[in-house]
Amino acid sequence: MIDKSKREGLSIDTKVVRGYDGVDPLTGAVSTPIYQTSTFQNTGINSGIKYSYSRCNNPTRDQLGNLIAMLENGVAGFPFTSGLAAVLACFSMLKSGDHVVLSNDIYGGTYRQIAEFFIKYGVKHTFVPIDDNDAVEAAMLPETKMIFAETPTNPMMTVADISKLSEIAKAHKALLVIDNTFLSPYFQRPIELGADIVVHSGTKFLAGHHDTICGFVVVNSSDLEEHFEYITKTQGAALSPMDSWLVTRGIKTLALRMERHQENALKCADFLKNHPKVDKVFYVGLPEHKSYEVSKKQASGFGGMISFTLKSNKNVNEVLTSGKIIMFAESLGGVNSLITYPLTQTHWSIPEEIRNEIGLTDTLLRFSVGIENCEDIIRDLDNMLSFA
Ligand SMILES: *Cc1c(COP(=O)(O)O)cnc(C)c1O
Repeated sequence: MIDKSKREGLSIDTKVVRGYDGVDPLTGAVSTPIYQTSTFQNTGINSGIKYSYSRCNNPTRDQLGNLIAMLENGVAGFPFTSGLAAVLACFSMLKSGDHVVLSNDIYGGTYRQIAEFFIKYGVKHTFVPIDDNDAVEAAMLPETKMIFAETPTNPMMTVADISKLSEIAKAHKALLVIDNTFLSPYFQRPIELGADIVVHSGTKFLAGHHDTICGFVVVNSSDLEEHFEYITKTQGAALSPMDSWLVTRGIKTLALRMERHQENALKCADFLKNHPKVDKVFYVGLPEHKSYEVSKKQASGFGGMISFTLKSNKNVNEVLTSGKIIMFAESLGGVNSLITYPLTQTHWSIPEEIRNEIGLTDTLLRFSVGIENCEDIIRDLDNMLSFA
């Protein structure tokens, strides 16, 4: 459990820089040392030392776990080897016969875990449009133990009303898990809105530099903390000391990066919506977005992710591969602008009928707006779209 008084009164752009302890308690080092060790010497039987084996606890990883808990305003944070390892840890709370309600627009790997993997162990699920509270309510069964929602969703940018979902979850004694990857705690803190658990692909905005795969779970209670300590020890997917250090360093510039991602994304969304080759633009920061008001209510920003459709599917490959600075690559949330084709990349595992239902078509492109000079980005986009 973190000591919440540590950075009380400081705003989040200071917290990201200072970290949790700020300096190494042992040496005063201002950069968190990398405790590159697998094991720790014991001082006696039942000596009660905090550190024994790095799969369970490691000082470098603990600094990062405490930092993410502090940023999300949770009770404890757990760094994992990937976002999907963090998602797996959450679903591992469920047992045979339990039921989970999920957003029908969801990261492909999360879909695979629940629809292809956990189903083999008797965990049932229902996919719903997560911005439709009545649909969520209607999907709740006596055995529903969890609502799992991305917001905004990947890739359609649908926004769930987190407080409303929390009310529904509480009424049914279910846990609310929010995947906060797209906005990061800089713009949105689901636990403050009633979520029980926050998960992240830390690979994206938190690490921010396309150099590490990492994931997080943050919890709002000591009971949940105990569960994830157990999971960390038992599933064995805790982040390494070296990667923990890299992500801690990445987070130092989170505030600056998120502001720049957003500033660039707003300009790019405006450019795209007026472009003759573009059909629809999905960006939560556009006033015409269906969830603009909910977004403004629950988040302090709109982030750097845009999806858009082309009017024609003819030259999608040429558009994707003709960028000079915008790279055709999977992933998102780093300093470089990346463009992705969800149909064959991130969301290939989603069945066609669900893809069609949510609008994930062969003309949909997902654009992670980087922190480069915005005029350079827009010039590049314009050139790419000339191939459409
Ligand atoms: C990328 C992503 C994940 C999976 O994270 P990895 O770090 O790639 O394992 C989960 N959820 C969302 C919303 C993502 O974008």
